[in-house]
Amino acid sequence: MPDVILVTGGHGLVGNAIRHVLESEPPNTRYGRRDGETWVFASSREADLRNAEATKALFAKYKPTHVIHLAALVGGLFMNMKYKLSMLRDNININDNVLHTSHETGVRKVVSCLSTCVFPDGIEPPLREDKIHLGPPHESNFGYAHAKRLVDIANHAYKEEFGSNFTAAIPTNIYGPYDNFDLEDSHVIPGLIHKCYLAKKNGTPFTVAGTGKPLRQFVYSYDLAKMFIWQLREYDDVEPIIFSVGENEDVSIRYVAEQIVEAFDFKGEVKFDTSKSDGQFRKPASNEKLLRLVRETSKDNEEFTFTPFEKGLKDSVDWFVKNYDNARIGQIKRGQVVSV
Ligand code: NAP
Ligand code: GDP
Repeated sequence: MPDVILVTGGHGLVGNAIRHVLESEPPNTRYGRRDGETWVFASSREADLRNAEATKALFAKYKPTHVIHLAALVGGLFMNMKYKLSMLRDNININDNVLHTSHETGVRKVVSCLSTCVFPDGIEPPLREDKIHLGPPHESNFGYAHAKRLVDIANHAYKEEFGSNFTAAIPTNIYGPYDNFDLEDSHVIPGLIHKCYLAKKNGTPFTVAGTGKPLRQFVYSYDLAKMFIWQLREYDDVEPIIFSVGENEDVSIRYVAEQIVEAFDFKGEVKFDTSKSDGQFRKPASNEKLLRLVRETSKDNEEFTFTPFEKGLKDSVDWFVKNYDNARIGQIKRGQVVSV
């Protein structure tokens, strides 16, 4: 029986990156598509996963043996601040439907996607996999963070009650082609790429929210895609794994803005709107577990290599400019996925 891998949220930033890596790596290699695998990339148009019947119908149609569960109501700091209940309810419903339908239909393995938002605010750095439940998350995103934490709880409960092979990844901030480039609700990199594009086009200032001082670890979506493919094929444990660059490789929002300015060759004024929130100042996460396991499970102690931030960012800017007419702008405004 061939393996059928269903990727929920398959048309988003990470889903498209997984598809790209599978297709661009040589076949039958660590990250390339393998014989005997069928990959299905589902979108919300095919099934609204907040709805249990729609979720069951999707699983009945494709009969997945494995699931990479990416679908989520997701956005940056300002979306998390505005839509706390939607972020909580939609994500709880989506996650419960996907995990329970996987359980009921005998899916052999599920890899879900959390976020470093799940970690307690103010916990002693670095963030590590065993610190998720040691205190409340940051108040700016508590709806989204609690919904994501519950996936880890559910994974442990499914394992203890039924012996299920459900696990999760915990990525830091992700960026790359196919992102959501909304001006208000997106994450910082796609939001600033779009803002700088418009500032250059219209001859207006390029305005960055907040002070520019907070620090973030950014992981390129094509690197992250390899981590998901590795986790699906080579990691069988319920405990989640942080997917990130090194804990000391975080960069300031100001640096991000400067790199975007350089990528666009923008010559206008750059402003910082300090009336806007900075969110958490820093949340350095350790990738020690990831790097050790990727190395240990390779044939010849192969180290995971990351795309340099400046290159990933330039490629993302170039992708956005080239694909401007079709780039995704907004999720919540399309009216498809927010709770009513
Ligand atoms: P994304 O581009 O917005 O992709 C999420 C996808 O989820 C969307 O493509 C959307 O499908 C789908 N979706 C949303 N609501 C749905 C629903 N009710 N039913 C079915 N599908 C639904 O975001 P992403 O960055 O790739 O996110 C992938 C995963 O990474 C998420 O679990 C997110 O929480 C996590 N994550 C993201 C970041 C980041 O910085 N981006 C950081 C940490 C963790 P359609 O496009 O078809 O509507
Ligand atoms: P977070 O890591 O969960 O906080 O997610 P974001 O990707 O939204 O990053 C938020 C940080 O970037 C905060 O320090 C914001 O003040 C800063 N920032 C600057 N400009 C923007 C913007 O246009 N959009 C977003 N989302 N954040 C911005």
